[in-house]
Amino acid sequence: MDKIKVGILGATGTVGQRFVQLLENHPWFQITELAASSSSAGNRYRDVCNWKLSAAIPENIKNLIVKNCVPDLDCKIVFSGLDAKVAGEIEMDFAKAGYPVISNARNYRMEQDVPLLIPEINSDHLKLIEKQKLNRNFGSGFIVTNPNCSTIPLAMVLAPLNKKFGVEKVLVTTLQAISGAGYPGLPSLDILDNIIPFIGGEEEKIETETKKITGELINGKVSPSQFDLSAQVNRVPVLDGHLMSISVKLKKDFELEKVKALLKNFTAIPQEQELPSAPKNPIIVMDENDRPQPRLDRDAGNGMSVVVGRIRSCPVLDVKFSALGHNTIRGAAGAAILNAELLNVEGYFSEF
Ligand code: NAP
Repeated sequence: MDKIKVGILGATGTVGQRFVQLLENHPWFQITELAASSSSAGNRYRDVCNWKLSAAIPENIKNLIVKNCVPDLDCKIVFSGLDAKVAGEIEMDFAKAGYPVISNARNYRMEQDVPLLIPEINSDHLKLIEKQKLNRNFGSGFIVTNPNCSTIPLAMVLAPLNKKFGVEKVLVTTLQAISGAGYPGLPSLDILDNIIPFIGGEEEKIETETKKITGELINGKVSPSQFDLSAQVNRVPVLDGHLMSISVKLKKDFELEKVKALLKNFTAIPQEQELPSAPKNPIIVMDENDRPQPRLDRDAGNGMSVVVGRIRSCPVLDVKFSALGHNTIRGAAGAAILNAELLNVEGYFSEF
């Protein structure tokens, strides 16, 4: 079977580089196009990409000429790691021109007819695509988004708890890695020896996106979950991996051992379908008192597992724990690739 040709918009950025790395040797997708801003376009990828990953740029990619982000690329679908300042217009142009756009950017996440997808949690929300195509007069194009990099690990653990016990209230405090701010990110004089208790727009994104993802699709509309959720975010001097402290009030009676078993044994469609990027265990539960830790645990499941630890009683709400997700893999490029894999097995790329 021929591989599906894919393009990467924003290929030179932090998320774009992860796409390049994760798509090397992908069994279904093959990178044929790289695109970025006009200051990168026309140059070899190796010359304009400030490559920050430890593995080298793949041989077949490094000499590709970076293009402008205009919808005349030789590919069937595009992944977007574009800066949100420009993603809105560019992604819409590609969707209108017939390209499925699998986006990391925040611009369309909360639109009523755009799936905000985590394949393990809300694959049924893909039904919004038909509505989107009708609403926006798209042909074969459409937009599917993945959530914010902190929302993904949070929603991954809340969704099974909500289904089984009903979630009533959630408090989450995040400790977010600097790669989450893109390149060059924060000046070293701001972040070294420091913690910054503010990331613009992040708390709002966590609070709204989580409710959409865990919401029910009713009559073609997502009805957001009704639980109360309060987020506080911090930027910490860690390279990759967002750690979060989560407390949850549940509606039904629960036992800690049952909560642990539920999370540990959680699997869903990506595992059943054996999607290439799906981790065997979407949630890994650790028993050690001092885990998860970003440096030790962010690469679990090739960076696609959410690692949970310290599950214990909460004297204020009901249960509290720590959760960790790799922000540029499960929180960005890996999430988008898993979305595309689900779209492919569900037949959404078959119009070509
Ligand atoms: P980044 O490192 O700043 O990269 C931004 C990319 O956008 C670069 O490739 C840049 O190309 C391109 N770009 C900028 N202006 C452009 C323009 N006018 N036209 C075309 N391309 C343009 O950012 P990032 O961290 O990779 O984030 C990318 C997106 O993913 C953002 O929307 C972000 O919110 C989202 N996201 C990031 C993370 C994370 O952990 N970093 C996680 C989840 C979601 P040039 O190099 O040519 O300027």
